[in-house]
Amino acid sequence: MITNSWLHPDLEKRNSATHGGGIFARADIRKGERLAIFGGKIMPIDDMYELPVEMQGYTMQIEERLVIGPASLVPEDTDFFNHSCDPNSGFKGQVFLVAMRDISADEEITFDYAMTVSASVGSDMVFCMECACGCPECRKTITEDDWKLPGLRVRYKGYFSQYIQEKIESLDRDNFGERVRGEAIISEKKKAGLLVR
Ligand SMILES: [Zn+2]
Repeated sequence: MITNSWLHPDLEKRNSATHGGGIFARADIRKGERLAIFGGKIMPIDDMYELPVEMQGYTMQIEERLVIGPASLVPEDTDFFNHSCDPNSGFKGQVFLVAMRDISADEEITFDYAMTVSASVGSDMVFCMECACGCPECRKTITEDDWKLPGLRVRYKGYFSQYIQEKIESLDRDNFGERVRGEAIISEKKKAGLLVR
């Protein structure tokens, strides 16, 4: 059968204890291996509401204005990757999912939705999801601003969707610029005798 997305041959859909359907490893997988390539239809975020309700959850944000969604009304296995606050996979680019660490047979493959979701542009949609993934790091509520959390920016460096990685780098450049400007002001004040230290 021709599918829109590609799934690693050692992965399969099974029932997940926590979230209904999930994707599981049939065999051991090594860090860095490509797990899935997401395909489908590219659409403005609001157009996802034109999909049947049961298909709306099978969309993934790939840019501030766009999501990639199902190209047909039949879900594919790649639609069933679940979120975890302690994931074992992350992104290379926008649609390539790779193993962030070695994965053992029978482990569920998860990624953190913070890797792909950010505030949408041109849409009133606000992303917010309750999480009960059960891991000690669980954030309980997953929001569209989670990519800004300093801890996650360190943990998922190189694994955020490319467009979010670029947002982080641009934010870091701005912060760096502000720090440099701040230091310049302090040194001028020191020179002017306005600051003792
Ligand atoms: Zn969680």
